This record gives sequence, C-alpha cells and structure tokens, in this order.
Amino acid sequence: MARITLVRGDITAQRVDAVVNAANSSLLGGGGVDGAIHRKGGPEILAACRELRASHYGGGLPTGQAVATPAGRLEARWVIHTVGPVWSAREDRSELLASCYRESLRVAGELAARTVAFPAISTGVYGWPMADGARIALRTVREASAESVEEVRFVLFDEAAYEVFAEAADA
Ligand code: ADP
Repeated sequence: MARITLVRGDITAQRVDAVVNAANSSLLGGGGVDGAIHRKGGPEILAACRELRASHYGGGLPTGQAVATPAGRLEARWVIHTVGPVWSAREDRSELLASCYRESLRVAGELAARTVAFPAISTGVYGWPMADGARIALRTVREASAESVEEVRFVLFDEAAYEVFAEAADA
C-alpha cells in the first residue's frame, strides 16, 4: 500500500512523478489549482489538453474521470487532470469525488508513477466542505492505491486545510 503524506504547500512546486489537477470539464484551464498549474507549467499542458479535447473529449471530460498530459515546465512528468463534482446540499455526490481519486490513481498506475501529489479536489471554487472532502480523499486513497504508487502526497494550500486533513488522517 502507498505511503500517505500530508504537506502544506503549493502543488505546482512538488517534485513528483504526477501532479493531479482539479480541472474543469473543458480541460482548457480555470482558476485555483488549474490556473496555477497552467501558469507555471506553460503552454505544453494546454496544447496537450486541446488535443485530448479534439480526439476524445469533445463534450468535455466527465466528472469523476481522469486523464494525463505531460507536465510542461513543472518538476513532474505528468499532470493528471480530473474533474471534481460541484458540492450540492441536495444531492450526495461523494461517489463522484471518490471516483476522482480512484481514477487518478488508476491513471498514475498506468503511467507507472511512483509519487503522486493531490490537491483537495472540489474544496475550492466547487464548494465541497473541507472535512468531508478530506475524509473521502483519505478513505479512497487508502482503499485504492495503484501498484506502482509508493507515495500519495496531499498538498494542502493553507494551514486550516492541512489541519483538517491531519485530523481526518488520525480519525
Ligand atoms: P475545485 O474547483 O475542484 O474546487 P480549486 O482549485 O478551486 O478546485 O480548489 C481546490 C483546493 O485546492 C482548494 O482547497 C484550494 O484552496 C486549493 N488550492 C488552490 N491553489 C492551490 C495550489 N497552488 N496548490 C495546492 N492547493 C491549491
């Protein structure tokens, strides 16, 4: 089973085999993690995303799925783009959020990645409560690690998010 580590920091600064992007279904960039990855990684990532749109995802990448591109100028080999669900108080979308982690790890395994960095998917613009997002992330990764993956690193952007993940990891 993969080792799970928690760090406070910027996901675009991680030296890992694969960085997971909290993308939107257009694959054409956005705010938050997505914007930061494209800004720092440069145009190679967007060009690869455009090709994927043209070849496979004309209607957009469906929520809960994951797909890889090169990582451009990031200190990583690949970016794995996944589309988290928007939080809903009316509808339970937990399975879609779990699917993001599971599918990203499956893609990481296909790439034979040994180290994978995740942000807290859906907990920014998409509004998912951090504690619930952390619980789903940790549980799913514990249950679903891919064979090649030795380390799954959660990269939390601020101290509050880090604390919430640390508490969920201890629970
Ligand atoms: P989503 O649309 O899936 O909610 P966001 O990018 O808006 O995605 O936010 C996801 C989480 O990533 C939030 O908790 C946000 O604070 C955090 N975040 C934003 N920028 C970075 C970054 N550069 N590195 C790591 N985490 C980040």
